[in-house]
Amino acid sequence: MLNIALFGPPGAGKGTQSKKLLEKYNLTYISTGDMLRTEIAEGSDLGKKAKLIIESGELVDDELIVQIIEKKITTNPNSKGILFDGFPRTVEQAYILDGLMLKLDTSLNAMINLEVPKKELINRLLLRAKTSGRVDDALDVIKVRLEEYENKTKPVANFYAGKSKYFTVNGVGKIDCIFQKIVDIIEKNQRGSKNQYRVASQTPIGKRSNGRPIN
Ligand code: AMP
Repeated sequence: MLNIALFGPPGAGKGTQSKKLLEKYNLTYISTGDMLRTEIAEGSDLGKKAKLIIESGELVDDELIVQIIEKKITTNPNSKGILFDGFPRTVEQAYILDGLMLKLDTSLNAMINLEVPKKELINRLLLRAKTSGRVDDALDVIKVRLEEYENKTKPVANFYAGKSKYFTVNGVGKIDCIFQKIVDIIEKNQRGSKNQYRVASQTPIGKRSNGRPIN
């Protein structure tokens, strides 16, 4: 499976790049933001609990996020892979994701961060507000969302950097150029894991991969 998480602050372009990645790699798409908005539109209990929090710009409780993620992952067991957009957003969610991936006998291949300066993020979100109809694209809410990102979400980067699974791309520029950089990271990552597999499978029985015999 190819499992990728797009990371970055609100307005970084995760949604835009996700669409292109889905076309190219045929993955299951998990956008916790979209899923929460669907729950709100359907008037579900979960949506009712999430509505006011989303409108304030704060992050929804990890517990609610786990509920929607688990439902989606377990209903797509034959997927070629998963593209996560806006998840994991806290270190707790990163641990939860590890556990869910393990249950599926897989793991996250890479977390790819889109780096965009704060001023540009605010401009993009205010521009989006004109057409998105999203209550949380208003300036006072945008400020809260960016603070939440700094305080609760940014530490997730260290979690994956510690596992050598964190990559950063400049998120300012032409959409296609940014996309190409993301694809390059994914392809390199896939080549790397294939090579690792080849080395492991070519190791003669009774020998370690460094050639020394197993006692
Ligand atoms: P997004 O569409 O990704 O910008 O998310 C919109 C809002 O949904 C966020 O500001 C949060 O309130 C909530 N949300 C989305 N994903 C998560 C998540 N993984 N954890 C907590 N809250 C989330």
